Amino acid sequence: MGVPKRRTSKSRKNMRRSHHAARLPTIVNCPRCKTKVELHTICPECGFYRGKPILEVEAEV
Ligand SMILES: [Zn+2]
Repeated sequence: MGVPKRRTSKSRKNMRRSHHAARLPTIVNCPRCKTKVELHTICPECGFYRGKPILEVEAEV
C-alpha cells in the first residue's frame, strides 16, 4: 500500500477541508399546490414531480 512521504501540513489540510461545509437545502414552492418543497424532491402534499403525478396522496383536494 502507498504511504505518504510527507505529512500533510495544517495549511494543506485546511485547504482540502475548505470544501467540506454542508449547505442548507434549497427550498422552492411547489408549482401545483404552492407548499414549500425541497428542490429535486417529489412534493409530499400533491405527489407531483415535473408536472406529473408520481405518488398517490390520500385526501387530495
Ligand atoms: Zn405540491
